[in-house]
Amino acid sequence: METKPFWSAAPIPSYAALDRDIVVDVLVIGAGITGVTTAFLLQSEGLDVALVEREEIACGDTGHTTAHLTYMTDTRLSDLVLSTSLQAAGIAWHAGKTAMDFISDTVESQQIDAALAKVPGYLAVHAEDAVEEELTCMKRERDWCGQLGLPVHLDEHDPIRRLPALCFPDQMKFHPGKYLAGLVKRASMIGARIHENTRVSEFGGDHVVANGHRIVYDRVVIATHVPLQGDSGGLGAALFQAKLALYSTYAIAARLSKRSAEEMIWSDTADPFHYVRIDRHEEGDIVILGGCDHKTGQKEAGIDPYRVLEDRLADWFPGAVRTHRWSGQVVDARRAPFHRADGRTSIHRYRLFGKWNDLRHRRGPHGSRCDPRPGEPVGGVPGPVAEDREIARKLSRRKCGLSGAIDHRSVPRFRRVCRLRGAGPRPCRAGCGGACRRVPG
Ligand SMILES: Cc1cc2nc3c(=O)[nH]c(=O)nc-3n(C[C@H](O)[C@H](O)[C@H](O)COP(=O)(O)OP(=O)(O)OC[C@H]3O[C@@H](n4cnc5c(N)ncnc54)[C@H](O)[C@@H]3O)c2cc1C
Repeated sequence: METKPFWSAAPIPSYAALDRDIVVDVLVIGAGITGVTTAFLLQSEGLDVALVEREEIACGDTGHTTAHLTYMTDTRLSDLVLSTSLQAAGIAWHAGKTAMDFISDTVESQQIDAALAKVPGYLAVHAEDAVEEELTCMKRERDWCGQLGLPVHLDEHDPIRRLPALCFPDQMKFHPGKYLAGLVKRASMIGARIHENTRVSEFGGDHVVANGHRIVYDRVVIATHVPLQGDSGGLGAALFQAKLALYSTYAIAARLSKRSAEEMIWSDTADPFHYVRIDRHEEGDIVILGGCDHKTGQKEAGIDPYRVLEDRLADWFPGAVRTHRWSGQVVDARRAPFHRADGRTSIHRYRLFGKWNDLRHRRGPHGSRCDPRPGEPVGGVPGPVAEDREIARKLSRRKCGLSGAIDHRSVPRFRRVCRLRGAGPRPCRAGCGGACRRVPG
């Protein structure tokens, strides 16, 4: 069995390491889905962009994901509504939908072979002994979805365990390696300078140092998933790190007989939850099963997460033949915003998180970090974009994963900021949460 992700054989082109000083409009640090997408979009806008990656493209979380593209957040919709408002929860879910549409449009317009497929997404009851209770929650979720105008129905039997499940039609899945390979090629074709094996090690006021060379920039986007602190000082770095929590998650891939299962994405209500995707291939179906999350460094003694997953696999997919197994780390940015102008260097520096936040443990040991605040006033929101700083702050605590990585609250806003250049947003205080204040006009 391979101890690497199922996607690791994707034909991603290689790029030379940086070997000289350069000057660019925008420097993007980190070539996961966030960085590659940002570089592609900004270069398409006519900016001169450099994308640098310390190892290889997609070597981080993006290469280790299971790539469910869904607007369903790990946090139940009803919990989101309770902790924010229907309006704010709607922004989060609709933003996910917009992000999915973005990926789908990009695949089509850039003719990327990313194995993108529309599939049903299931959220299935986990506890066999509490079906009735869970069913009540499911019905509540269904009703909130109805209020947001998002299609969903209740199925009596989910395709894996034959337990009740919510079914969200038109969710998606794709091959993250192929998608990134296609996107990075397009970015390079239109002029983005791409450098692998180029680690940013120092921040100056208007430049970074990577491989011993200076990259002078007008703007920098830090798309490293685990944030870089740069020159903000030891205390700042420690405080920022304290706002992060890292979770380990595990996945296994296995071969099934041909056409033995429905193509889909699936997760359940267990805590930590399980997640499954089924792909159809000429040689046979593939199942990817993941879960067993725990706070990094806090694995329960005596528990082997792969063993737990293998037992589930054998139970749920008898006869499955394991081919790959791997693990990855998800960053929970807790109170840190998903991107923000740095407190000291104001609008010139941005941090983008692919996964804004992960509230899946809300009901678990870290529940206290998102106290529901019903009744807290939420300002007016034009369209699905959270222009309001308070909403942005709240939603920055929500996890959106791959879809969130290119959510329209990050890249297009940044594009707009870049376009405006001198007339950009006013700086916001470090940690205040919003990406930046409203763009004037
Ligand atoms: C097992 C697993 C399953 C998942 N399943 C899903 C899912 O089904 N759906 C979903 O939406 N999300 C999922 N996620 C989360 C999702 O994969 C991530 O949110 C997303 O890939 C993050 O993308 P990113 O570009 O922000 O970060 P990354 O892909 O981690 O990219 C950051 C890059 O920055 C580079 N870097 C770091 N420091 C430096 C430096 N100093 N200089 C230069 N480069 C640097 C790193 O090498 C890395 O390549 C899953 C994650 C895991 C681990």
